[in-house]
Amino acid sequence: MHRFTKITASIGPSCESPDVLRQMILAGVNVCRLNFSHDVGEAQGHKIDTIRAVAQELEVPIAIMIDLQGPKHRIGNFLTEEKYKLSVGQMFTFDSNPAPGNSKRVNLPDRDVLKSLKVGERILLNDGKIEMQVVSKDENSVSARVVRGTEIWSRRGFNLPDTDVETSVLTDKDRQDLEYALTKNPDWVAVSFVQRPEDIAEVRDFITAHTDKPVKIMAKIERKNAVEKITDIASLADGVMIARGDLAVELPFEQVPAISRHIIRECRKLNKPVIMATQMLGSMVNSEFPLRAEISDVATAAYLRADSTMTSEETTIGSNPVNVIKTMAKILAYSDADAINNPYDWGKLDYAPENNWSRSVSSMAFLNQVGAIVVFARDTLAATQISCRRSDIPIIAVCDDIQIVNQLCLSRGVLPVFDPDLFAQRDAFNIARWAGIKSGKLVIVDGDKISLRDMD
Ligand code: PEP
Repeated sequence: MHRFTKITASIGPSCESPDVLRQMILAGVNVCRLNFSHDVGEAQGHKIDTIRAVAQELEVPIAIMIDLQGPKHRIGNFLTEEKYKLSVGQMFTFDSNPAPGNSKRVNLPDRDVLKSLKVGERILLNDGKIEMQVVSKDENSVSARVVRGTEIWSRRGFNLPDTDVETSVLTDKDRQDLEYALTKNPDWVAVSFVQRPEDIAEVRDFITAHTDKPVKIMAKIERKNAVEKITDIASLADGVMIARGDLAVELPFEQVPAISRHIIRECRKLNKPVIMATQMLGSMVNSEFPLRAEISDVATAAYLRADSTMTSEETTIGSNPVNVIKTMAKILAYSDADAINNPYDWGKLDYAPENNWSRSVSSMAFLNQVGAIVVFARDTLAATQISCRRSDIPIIAVCDDIQIVNQLCLSRGVLPVFDPDLFAQRDAFNIARWAGIKSGKLVIVDGDKISLRDMD
């Protein structure tokens, strides 16, 4: 069963050894995500080297995505490590005083946040378990009323769903991490807490100033203001991650499935790969079997024709990350096949004129029941545009540049092949045979030439 939906695996302590990585890649991983909120510098560099070595040994293309921590906000420390009681209705102050906190106040180290917060806006702490509303503010402090929540303690993260924080999307730590990571040639850089299209331009400028390589940018959509500007953000980025963890804190959680569908449709229109992320098989951190609802969540990503699903803690700290990937691959392969055999009208997409040629390729492939579309790829554009039409026909993208091959690992239904000789020969039939597609016809895309030929 050919699996169209790709798997992005978050890599952490449970799966850093070459042996586990080897088994995970053989089980179906296409993209390895390294989260710079945890290890940084040489520790991440070592993981990148290990993944590259295993991929080379297995002769399997794998994309490496580094994920920057971004401006994740945290409160300061309290006097002790214990939990401090809050009562609904009481006032609580966040201020610039570095002294340890108590049940009435705590330090808020980020000056940009104090400056940006306005009266009436919400502060959500500890994954939304605590809600406060700003009642008054001055230059050095913000006073808020407790609306929900009973306890607060040191270094809790917080979200500001109503606030446009006037801060750079790259913190000093991100700049340092990215500068180092770029020396290791990652294929993708995921940017956390994007708020506006200018954030993508800022990261692009930073990357261009530090490397000649065409590193791709993945915009993580986890803020309410990013959802509102999704078209402009996705237009400037190379891909989008639906980061449902923070998204479900910033927005009412019941809206997240609808927003996810909207983001997938926008990405398809704009020819940008899209990852459905977070807690997809979360219970498998300790369990051999997924929850029924998790099976459905993974399958839904396939039915919605997302490019990729993603694992989080279930692979980074889980007891059996290889089993997680096998489970995810099995669900995706079955659901992909069912979605293709029982097509459902997902509604009309608005097609931009630049997509007309890739619609023609997909229609030609569909009407002629071809076995495969073979693309001779000089960059990621042609294969990505065809992939975003979701023709449900395998796309073999042959390329003589390993980074383009790695980057295409993320795109739905694309089988990227690195081979300078095949690329030079442009022998589509041998390529299709090599890929195990032995019957039917081929659509061949070579530069701006598109042709249809029988295999036999
Ligand atoms: C998320 O919030 O869903 C997410 C993927 O981000 P992170 O794991 O970096 O918090």
